[in-house]
Amino acid sequence: MDHFLYRDGILHAEDVALADIAATVGTPFYCYSAATLTRHYQLFTEALSPLPHLVCFAIKSLSNVAVLKLLGDLGAGMDVVSGGEYRRARAAGVPGDRIVFSGVGKTREEMRLALNGGIRQFNVESEPELRALSDVAVSLGVTAPIALRVNPDVDARTHEKIATGKSENKFGVPIAKARAVYAEAARLPGIDVVGIDVHIGSQLTELAPFEAAFTKVRELTEALRADGHNIRRLDLGGGLGIPYTRSNEAPPLPTEYGAMIRRVLGDLGCEIEIEPGRLISGNSGVLVSQVVYVKNGEGRDFLILDAAMNDLVRPSMYGAHHDIIPVVEPAAASPVQAFDVVGPVCETGDTFAKARALPHLAEGDLVAFRSAGAYGAVMASEYNTRPLVPEVLVKGDHFAVIRARPTFDEILSRDTIPEWL
Ligand SMILES: *Cc1c(COP(=O)(O)O)cnc(C)c1O
Repeated sequence: MDHFLYRDGILHAEDVALADIAATVGTPFYCYSAATLTRHYQLFTEALSPLPHLVCFAIKSLSNVAVLKLLGDLGAGMDVVSGGEYRRARAAGVPGDRIVFSGVGKTREEMRLALNGGIRQFNVESEPELRALSDVAVSLGVTAPIALRVNPDVDARTHEKIATGKSENKFGVPIAKARAVYAEAARLPGIDVVGIDVHIGSQLTELAPFEAAFTKVRELTEALRADGHNIRRLDLGGGLGIPYTRSNEAPPLPTEYGAMIRRVLGDLGCEIEIEPGRLISGNSGVLVSQVVYVKNGEGRDFLILDAAMNDLVRPSMYGAHHDIIPVVEPAAASPVQAFDVVGPVCETGDTFAKARALPHLAEGDLVAFRSAGAYGAVMASEYNTRPLVPEVLVKGDHFAVIRARPTFDEILSRDTIPEWL
């Protein structure tokens, strides 16, 4: 469920007409709904509420500091994968003891940043990382709380670029090796083993792979406790998928996911952490764009938009589908036409959809890409020297620009010409 609905024939974000935002901000822009973000966060906390738990929003899916503040003020923790994301979480007012640090390539500098600023736990992904963290913690005279990210070797049955839980992926330590690595962690100075971490992939549309992974985590918890480790926290990662099309078979709901977690792990006496990104942010955002031209080609018609692959890369990167709907509601039973929906970037890959059935659209009309809140703005670039797409947050009848579109002067001023040239 989200809060992007037609009202009086115009698509609204909550109580604000997207056409009004377009008139103020210009296009393209991302627009997020505070009510939708809040609702999705709460679905998870409610689903886990009988257990001690922390829902850590995966910042990489949508990292604007205003959005992080909204979720942080509700009590959310944050999952960060870089020093930059750590800084965003802190800038949003999230205390260090609600921040978990994931990622395969944490540098010593990033470790120092988090140890000095406060951290709930590092999700350690390899033995070299574990040793580096021990060194850094000892040099600072502190102790680093850790969970080891184990790779359970389960098939998440999702897109190959976002599957992370198979043994051939770069993530985590093979679960068969975990006991040996935990033994080393217990011996290393400056390391406090607090739990186990697992994250098997993104956009999972069924519970079975999660359940297979969590069952292995349960067995590992018991084995590690028998080895003398005080396993008190289980971080189950993110990855729950969202419906990108209305017709799609519906992915499991957070309530079903939470019930499964309680059934498989609820009696272990562990605090549960989860790291959802997409399910909180995905359907909380749209990308609004304007039609630049309608071009009639041979055997196909192109809808050329002012948004491009640099603003929303998911269709060209993952072959992802986004519903595209007109901002002005089409009359019931108005005829549809097949369009190839493309952007202006000089790449054939700059194609959002092929032969998409859309109602009549003309130059100047506005369209909205649905489900664009996750892995949208965060993956945007300035390719073709197109200004970084701005972001807008709506709450009730308020809206605010939460990241402004840079001016061309700002963009050009970042380049410097060496004096010897
Ligand atoms: C990407 C990622 C997430 C979030 O995944 P979603 O599919 O957006 O829920 C959580 N944890 C880790 C370690 C990740 O890499």
